[in-house]
Amino acid sequence: PMPVVAVVGRPNVGKSTLVNRIIGRREAVVEDVPGVTRDRVTYEGLWRGRRFTLVDTGGWDPEASGMALRIAEQAQVAVELADVILFVVDATVGVTDADEAVAGVLRRAGKPIVLAANKVDDQRMELEAASLWSLGLGEPRPVSALHGRASGDLLDLLLDAM
Ligand code: GDP
Ligand code: MG
Repeated sequence: PMPVVAVVGRPNVGKSTLVNRIIGRREAVVEDVPGVTRDRVTYEGLWRGRRFTLVDTGGWDPEASGMALRIAEQAQVAVELADVILFVVDATVGVTDADEAVAGVLRRAGKPIVLAANKVDDQRMELEAASLWSLGLGEPRPVSALHGRASGDLLDLLLDAM
């Protein structure tokens, strides 16, 4: 069976954009209105000749009550189904309570985690990405899902973690 990579994170950090970047098609649902991705949409990824399954999580209404709890629950489900977790945080916003809730689940998971500091569209933003060290999940990896900046490096790291 192919290794499963679950993409987790709170709404609007760019999970679906990153999935699109990785699969090379505009197929995962991206909206400026956050929370439109249905629960757990699965795609096939291919990088350096290796195939893997990519699971885009999401589908919460960020305005709904108990959102942080439901994000943590979704992270737990993702942890159980995945071989590798791709945790996406918005470096332009920094660490939020919802990010902390996900990180708490992931720290206990005992599975390989790649921490993507997304929306690092230029060199200047790389400094902001360093604040994500506070999540206690190792080195934040700057990437721009939108422009593709450093997305190859991120994929290399994912393959290494499989
Ligand atoms: P999701 O809810 O985590 O799946 O987030 P989406 O992929 O739907 O993206 C939410 C918003 O962030 C959209 O407006 C995207 O265009 C934007 N976005 C995603 N990645 C980047 C990025 O690398 N840089 C910038 N500037 N915006 C991004
Ligand atoms: Mg989405």
